[in-house]
Amino acid sequence: MSLVIYNYLKREKEPFVPVVEGRVHMYVCGPTVYDHAHLGHAKTYVAFDVVVRWLRYSGYKVRYVQNITDVGHLLDDGEDRILKGARRERVEPMELVERYMRSYFEDMDALGVQRPDISPRASGHIPEQIEMIKLLIEKGYAYEVNGSVYFSVEKFPEYGKLSGRRIEEMEAGKRVAVREEKRHPMDFALWIKAPENHILKWPSPWGWGYPGWHIECSAMSTKYLGHTFDIHGGGVDNIFPHNECEIAQSEAAYGVPFANYWMLTGSLLVNGVKMSKSLGNFVTIKDALKKHRAEALRFFILSNKYNSPADYSEAVLEAATKGWERLYNGAQRVRRLLDHPEQIITSRDSTPEMTANLIEALDQYRMKFVSAMNDDFNTPLAIGSLQDMTTDVNRWIDKGIATREVLEQAADIYRAFGGDVLGLLRWEATEGSGGNAQREAALIELLIELRAEARKAKDYARADAIRQRLANLGIILEDTPSGTTWRLAS
Ligand SMILES: [Zn+2]
Repeated sequence: MSLVIYNYLKREKEPFVPVVEGRVHMYVCGPTVYDHAHLGHAKTYVAFDVVVRWLRYSGYKVRYVQNITDVGHLLDDGEDRILKGARRERVEPMELVERYMRSYFEDMDALGVQRPDISPRASGHIPEQIEMIKLLIEKGYAYEVNGSVYFSVEKFPEYGKLSGRRIEEMEAGKRVAVREEKRHPMDFALWIKAPENHILKWPSPWGWGYPGWHIECSAMSTKYLGHTFDIHGGGVDNIFPHNECEIAQSEAAYGVPFANYWMLTGSLLVNGVKMSKSLGNFVTIKDALKKHRAEALRFFILSNKYNSPADYSEAVLEAATKGWERLYNGAQRVRRLLDHPEQIITSRDSTPEMTANLIEALDQYRMKFVSAMNDDFNTPLAIGSLQDMTTDVNRWIDKGIATREVLEQAADIYRAFGGDVLGLLRWEATEGSGGNAQREAALIELLIELRAEARKAKDYARADAIRQRLANLGIILEDTPSGTTWRLAS
């Protein structure tokens, strides 16, 4: 059962074979940090977070590079996004960059996205970009006009191979006003001459200027991952021109394939409509997190395959919250029983044979999860197998046939797959390390104890107050013959 990836470049699933055995070099186009990150970012980066987690779980040594664009990403009217943001907030461009880079990482941390191994910034890699542009000029793929440098698309016949567009067709749809200095309307800027009063600019062999957006990804991926690396990821919306230009620049400069596997994430919709600034239906991650817990957002994202669109709505998020809570409560129930083995009830039906059968059933769930993930990171199927397992395990506990051995196996699956791989039960994965939910759970147990003591002392008013106050916080206590348990309200 080995990993298969849908390679967008070839439009088909392929067995994954890394350049160097046992290692994966992966690059994902990062955010342009000029405003708070939105749900589209959440979808893409949660998806690749799980890709990296799965690769690591499978034993690969992964180097994950995700850039931070802080210069050169222009709006359709030719204005630099960073400069526009800086003017909007009346701050230095680099102050703006710092502000939104921190905001971005805050959001990612909240969503349980593990940080990339390297987060290179475009402004910190100007010499590397200049070197690459010089090489492209030397090799005849690029030309200088009036202090700007352009890539000549006609010199690279494979231009369009990722997006499936042809140069002739592209010309018609071109929105940006054609710069007359270009030799061909589709030629794209590698280096842009800076006007006199431009703030973000650097000296270059062609005078003061700044890099075009695409060249940073070629230069930085090469620097950290080599000329040919394994996986290049990004949102499908950047396929053209951005990703297409990256391929052209890198393959023209070094004469070898750029990335072997292209993985592109599907768009994020809000109530069935594509999210866009002009429609005013932008939802920032921060706003979404005010309404929904991070795990529910993550559950929603992973309930869709990474390369399919995902449709965000309040109803869908409510369902995701319920789905996550069921999983969480299931895992909690198992763990609580393991923490208090005296509460494990075994009925007459519990025989060694039965235990062996249940462990075999859990192995089946484990295999289902693994094959779902190995089939192009099919997280909806993988989550489905955990949900089915939860239904079974709950039933087994109710019937008194879930022995300690069975519960330990189930806990192991929750920890490895629900925690380490999907990051949905992420605190479950950090047992003993004092994660927030760990502390929360300990605190609730403490209150349950205090309530029990109050009841023993016949102080029923205090006992009821504890139950009620917890209920107000969405924590429901349930008194059972074997003691009091708790669950999150759904
Ligand atoms: Zn990029």
